[in-house]
Amino acid sequence: MTELPPAIRLTGLTKEFGAVTAVDHVDLEIGAGEFFSMLGPSGSGKTTVLRLIAGFEQPTDGTIELFGQDVTKKAPFDRDVNTVFQDYALFPHMSVLDNVAYGLRVRGMKRAERRERALAALAGVRLEQMAARKPSQLSGGQRQRVALARATVVQPKVLLLDEPLGALDLKLREQMQVELKQIQRDLGITFIFVTHDQEEALTLSDRIAVFHDGRIEQLGTPRDLYENPASTFVADFVGTSNLFGAEHSAAIIGRDGHHSIRPEKLTLASAAATAAGERSAPGTIVESIYIGSGIRRVIDLDAGPRVTVLEPNTRSRAVDDDRGDRVHVTWHDEDVVSLIPPGT
Ligand code: ADP
Ligand code: MG
Repeated sequence: MTELPPAIRLTGLTKEFGAVTAVDHVDLEIGAGEFFSMLGPSGSGKTTVLRLIAGFEQPTDGTIELFGQDVTKKAPFDRDVNTVFQDYALFPHMSVLDNVAYGLRVRGMKRAERRERALAALAGVRLEQMAARKPSQLSGGQRQRVALARATVVQPKVLLLDEPLGALDLKLREQMQVELKQIQRDLGITFIFVTHDQEEALTLSDRIAVFHDGRIEQLGTPRDLYENPASTFVADFVGTSNLFGAEHSAAIIGRDGHHSIRPEKLTLASAAATAAGERSAPGTIVESIYIGSGIRRVIDLDAGPRVTVLEPNTRSRAVDDDRGDRVHVTWHDEDVVSLIPPGT
């Protein structure tokens, strides 16, 4: 039995801009039909990787394969990929339908067929009623969906999305995240999604590559990254973490090395932990913040570090007058994550 080649294979991919190494020997395979995210802070090389895959940039070194075919030297229009940019780049003077049909017109498709295909693509993003409108007559979320229909109408095997929800407000963003996931599942094509928003990446992705300084710091499922961050950088960037360096690990956690514990894995007790597998550290409440779904407490441990504890909003305990209270911050040994220290 022959194994199908991955949708994308990057081998030693490197891009230098003068003295800046934007992408530094990236090796990566992305499976057909995967919703794959590249997550990282601004300047970590995500957009450059996307532009290299699309063919808008030439790599300094390394190769790019699409479905087993080396496309490193091919022009953008010879690659079976399409890109959705953050600013959508719709043509303002064209109707929604003509915007979506544009890529088909460029490919020389007949008018009737173009129209049919464009309407089907608009139906896919639930915008068929808006076909006659101009982009200026749409909301931000609707424009975003038009951009998506325009990119998918030519049926690319891989869709590249560079922070496509970045211009939307939070509520709309959350709605679009759900829709994007549904559209990807319906179309069955590979999505490569770039974002600096860790929550968005966790929500949408089958797998995530966390970028840092042009390299992949960690690759895994959302659950892998959240539950088992390999490094201090990932523990800190993906979600909120309480980080313990070597000294505090030894004093508080009772282990050598660097560690982290998520705020929701910490609880507060009035006495020191005695149960098997549990540990605790005494401290003083500095701040309690009501955040609707929960209560976030900031606690200064006697041993030094300040930690955050996230309690679900299920208790009746008052939140406004517990500053200065003495507590025992408690956790289970299994919830302590061992990290690769920074700079190694
Ligand atoms: P991200 O998308 O993760 O924010 P980019 O891929 O845009 O990161 O940029 C990675 C690095 O490469 C940054 O240091 C950026 O300044 C640099 N860079 C990107 N494009 C260019 C360019 N055309 N010329 C020079 N430097 C660039
Ligand atoms: Mg970018």
